[in-house]
Amino acid sequence: MNAPRPLAILGGTFDPIHNGHLRGAWEAAEALDAEVRMVPARTPPHRPPPMADVAGRVALLRAALAGQDRLVLDTRELDRDGPSYTVDTLASLRAEIGPDRPLVLLVGADAFAGLASWHLWQDLFGLAHIGVLTRPGGHHALPAELAAFVEGRRTPRLHGPAGQVIDISITPLDIAATAIREAFAAGYEPRFLMPETCFADPALLAPYRSPDL
Ligand code: ATP
Repeated sequence: MNAPRPLAILGGTFDPIHNGHLRGAWEAAEALDAEVRMVPARTPPHRPPPMADVAGRVALLRAALAGQDRLVLDTRELDRDGPSYTVDTLASLRAEIGPDRPLVLLVGADAFAGLASWHLWQDLFGLAHIGVLTRPGGHHALPAELAAFVEGRRTPRLHGPAGQVIDISITPLDIAATAIREAFAAGYEPRFLMPETCFADPALLAPYRSPDL
């Protein structure tokens, strides 16, 4: 019997969604032959509140995903109260897909370097593989505890439903949501860093535009 097709998720604040997220998710989908779900966070535990509210971030994500069906929106974190812990999201996905299908948590290399600060981080590996997307902008060294934990879990090819770490080399796109928010705040139009569909309806970008400009 053929191995079941992996399910991968890319979680994030997506404040706003940009081509770095989309291209990374797309290349991971192709590299792993996976279905990829984009999972927006409601109240990210690690960071200041997003600039756009949940409805605004989801509306932009929907616009960004229009016209293709390989990357799919998954709003399960928005339906839960309290902070969005990835371990809970993975547990809920695992319950949905059963014990055998590979599940892959995609994270940028910067996020991976901070993994040991995540809630119940070691439990993530019991639920999913971790796919680390290369991200430009510095060397993302792993702290000793995390490096020791992932040693022996690294693999060039995923086997089994969970527990391994795979590096996924993607086209380096030095795009960050912070820089996009700053561009809007300065009155610029950060076109071509986000899909053109995001610019089609001016209301979608209103949370980011400075009212004074
Ligand atoms: P901010 O600038 O607000 O911190 P961000 O652009 O890093 O935002 P997030 O929503 O925090 O976006 O990122 C979600 C996930 O996508 C994280 O795992 C992050 O590492 C990854 N990611 C974001 N941008 C890129 C990029 N340009 N290339 C590869 N991975 C990325």
